[in-house]
Amino acid sequence: MFPELVTRPDLKVFLPPIGGMTLYFFGDVSQLGKPETKVACRVHDECNGSDVFGSDICTCRPYLAHGIEVCIEMAQQGGVGLVVYNRKEGRALGEVTKFLVYNARKRQVGGDRAETYFARTECIAGVQDMRFQELMPDVFHWLGIKRIDRWASMSNMKHGALTAQGIEVVEQVAIPDALIPADARVEIDAKVAAGYFTSYSPPGAEELALAKGRGLHE
Ligand SMILES: [Zn+2]
Repeated sequence: MFPELVTRPDLKVFLPPIGGMTLYFFGDVSQLGKPETKVACRVHDECNGSDVFGSDICTCRPYLAHGIEVCIEMAQQGGVGLVVYNRKEGRALGEVTKFLVYNARKRQVGGDRAETYFARTECIAGVQDMRFQELMPDVFHWLGIKRIDRWASMSNMKHGALTAQGIEVVEQVAIPDALIPADARVEIDAKVAAGYFTSYSPPGAEELALAKGRGLHE
């Protein structure tokens, strides 16, 4: 689809138009690219149900709002904040697939629980995730960002992709506990158990087996 990837060796950075993205800046963007400029950032993958409609099954909307706060704080301190909003709905599997997964989670025997969180996606979609994080850091190369001082994300896959490409992440900022909706405990437990960044010890097997999500008829 993108012949430039192999036909244009002169290009040091290529932003493939996969899914699309919007960049929201906070503060003076002309300061970007200078080594002394502190940068705060959230790379947010679209979640329409939560971001727009306020669903409480995941942490997307509260984490995005927290990320915006972190960006504004950085701008107020003279740095630059950046929200990268990627159109990668439902782990790039799409919204319909996501709703099928939610449906399966709520109807499964034993209730909605962290231990089956990734398996429910895989049994619907065939994969746990369709996002390709190795291309995600390209936008930072394009902007000349080599260091992110405050990184509002818990994703170990995004963090790994950044550091593998030489972008330093100074401080990783987890979503504050108080902002996690009760129904989103399933998601956050499953992700932390799978290697997501956290400031507390990951939940054990017994904890993961507890049905913490809202029941079908609740
Ligand atoms: Zn979400």
